[in-house]
Amino acid sequence: MSTAPLRVRFAPSPTGYLHVGGARTALFNWLLARRTGGTFVLRIEDTDMERSSDAMVQGILDGMSWLGLTWDEGPQVGGPHAPYFQSQRLDRYRAVAAQLVASGHAYYDYRTAAPRTKTADGEETPDTFGTKSYEDTSLTLTADEVAAREAAGMPRAIRFRVPAEGRTVFPDAVHGEIGFDNAGLEDFVILRSDGYPTYHLSVVVDDMDMQITQVIRGDDHISNTPKQVLLYEALGVPVPGFAHVPLILGPDKKRLSKRHGATSVMEYSAQGIVPEAMVNFLALLGWSPGTDQELFSAAELVERFDLEGISGGNAVFNPEKLEWMNNQHIMLLPDDVLIAHARPWLVEAGLWRDAYDGEARPWLVRALTLLRPRAKRLGDIPEGLGPLVRPVTFDPAAVARHLTAEMAQHLETLAERLAVLPTFDAPSIEQVVRGTAEAGGVKAGAFMQAVRVSLVGRTVSPGLFETIELLGLDESLARIRAGARQAQPA
Ligand code: GLU
Repeated sequence: MSTAPLRVRFAPSPTGYLHVGGARTALFNWLLARRTGGTFVLRIEDTDMERSSDAMVQGILDGMSWLGLTWDEGPQVGGPHAPYFQSQRLDRYRAVAAQLVASGHAYYDYRTAAPRTKTADGEETPDTFGTKSYEDTSLTLTADEVAAREAAGMPRAIRFRVPAEGRTVFPDAVHGEIGFDNAGLEDFVILRSDGYPTYHLSVVVDDMDMQITQVIRGDDHISNTPKQVLLYEALGVPVPGFAHVPLILGPDKKRLSKRHGATSVMEYSAQGIVPEAMVNFLALLGWSPGTDQELFSAAELVERFDLEGISGGNAVFNPEKLEWMNNQHIMLLPDDVLIAHARPWLVEAGLWRDAYDGEARPWLVRALTLLRPRAKRLGDIPEGLGPLVRPVTFDPAAVARHLTAEMAQHLETLAERLAVLPTFDAPSIEQVVRGTAEAGGVKAGAFMQAVRVSLVGRTVSPGLFETIELLGLDESLARIRAGARQAQPA
């Protein structure tokens, strides 16, 4: 077992956003680096120039930053690190490809006119797979013929020569030992005829140069791994450890896709999920702490995370569970953190007041104490706060049903009694409300609905007595009396 400090990486291709699966991979790498005091590298795999752009990269960086996944290294000196970009390392891949040709592990392939098929990696391969025919390659051409073709600038790919026999085996921290027969692996392209590396080459060169000790990535890369192991071996460098994490499925057990809802983590941000909940939720997609505990802060996850807890079975993305977890985190977050998360939502709803940064902060904190239990998403906070700070708009159906002439009388009585209450706190208010209902001979529940509709114009609100306490005496009296005036004559 190596005792070298752990070095891990997240290596997304820039697709314009950080999707749930990628975010989970990034998180697992980050958690392991943070737990072991290792190094977490971010590397943007942008060698597909047509698909890559700054905007594409920004989408990934936004997702990483929202989740708090900081990386430790980058090419530039000073300031916050930029990630590594493969597009800045093309010469290095070309040099390694040439080195592999020189060492006899790879060869020039001039068969550009041969019929081609696209593999899953987008790599073009002549339809010679299986025959292992080397016609028109540097394996069968003479040195002079090769030199002449090179001098003429004839297009050619560089292909790795997979041993015809034997097995390529690697241990996987999640799945145990995995092996592939070499006879089933084609001689794969490492450098395309346009001079660009394929994924297999660039990923291995980078993981080698960046001294990555542990590769944690999606299950979909298992079939790529033997080719990469062969490359490490050909280069004579240590093979990193591998941990392939299971796929994420939708609730219908099909691979998670747009059909199931948002797949970009920033869409969840836009839906009012707090990053603390997203991190917690993603961590449990395929990893288990080995106990029933479900709620974790990022710091607790860092303490607990290990590769042994990753399950080999596929993980199911349950949106209801995410919403539940979001509510739990909204309840647990420190006031200042919750306010920072809720602020843009309050601004958007026209409810943010500068005083919330000053003298009205304690009031906002008290209001949030009432609103947190009902907030499944951040948008529920302005939704609940609006009726407390804006003039009441009455829901006609709630008025018709609850603000009857009889109730109007009791509401007037309640206002009189509240006005003389020595201590204006929720328990005392509760006594007065219940006492008023009893004295008036109406059911407490029905009376409380009438009070609620007076206070907020509708039949839903946070805890009634706490709401009255929060609104304060004057505002509560004004609202209760206005409610009484709404009542229809008997
Ligand atoms: N760019 C690859 C991807 O996005 C990286 C795979 C790997 O981690 O090796 O899937």
